[in-house]
Amino acid sequence: MSRARATPSARFDITVLGSADAFCSSGHLNAAYLFETDRSTFLVDCGPTILLAMKQRGIDTALLDFVVVSHLHGDHFGGLPLLLLEYRYERPRERPLLILGPPGVEERLWTLYRALYPDLDGRGLPFPLRFLELTPETTATVADVEIFSVRVPHQIEDTSLALRFDVAGKRVLYSGDSPWIDRFIELANGVDLFLCECTAYATPMGLHVEYPLLRPLVPQLGCRRLVLIHLGREMREHAAEIDVECASEGMVIKL
Ligand SMILES: [Zn+2]
Ligand SMILES: [Zn+2]
Repeated sequence: MSRARATPSARFDITVLGSADAFCSSGHLNAAYLFETDRSTFLVDCGPTILLAMKQRGIDTALLDFVVVSHLHGDHFGGLPLLLLEYRYERPRERPLLILGPPGVEERLWTLYRALYPDLDGRGLPFPLRFLELTPETTATVADVEIFSVRVPHQIEDTSLALRFDVAGKRVLYSGDSPWIDRFIELANGVDLFLCECTAYATPMGLHVEYPLLRPLVPQLGCRRLVLIHLGREMREHAAEIDVECASEGMVIKL
């Protein structure tokens, strides 16, 4: 099946706002990626350091049209209550905000919001907040962005998603958090960019990709560009021995 190629003017830029794991390893920030297209500005994951990341780079928080979260671990969605607070007080918002995420995202966000700011519970927000649950093996469309979701074995009961984005003929695969699965080879085939988590270097980190397992598979990946993300402490310490491109804050990838 062929895909329409992008017109030269179509915009699809990705800025790395947070390339670390949950521990802000080696001083890097929690997971967050700013995606900008001709018609959409949105976040992919929203870790607790999101406001720091955006304001350090002079990115206006009001620009966000929607937020997509891959799973409901704190380092990926813990920044959402702070973003809501930002829109309530610091950068008052009136237009709707859409949050897309795995099943349960709405309930879990309100639970977190109430835990962090119980005094604000029940006072509502001055803008419409909408939710769209992402269902594995289906495609959701928001403006000019198509988002295909794949369940990955990072959590047992909750749903963790890898996400594939199609914009104007360009395609990006985002692993979210996941151990390596061979389906990534199929999903990465022909994509313009594969943002692949690689948390662990030598010491296994549980349900995450380990570099010694990933490296021999790289030649099998049919992606045009591979960038490793969600990097743990050992990945940073061994940077000189890693010959695959690694993300860092401020990296801008233009597709
Ligand atoms: Zn994580
Ligand atoms: Zn996780």
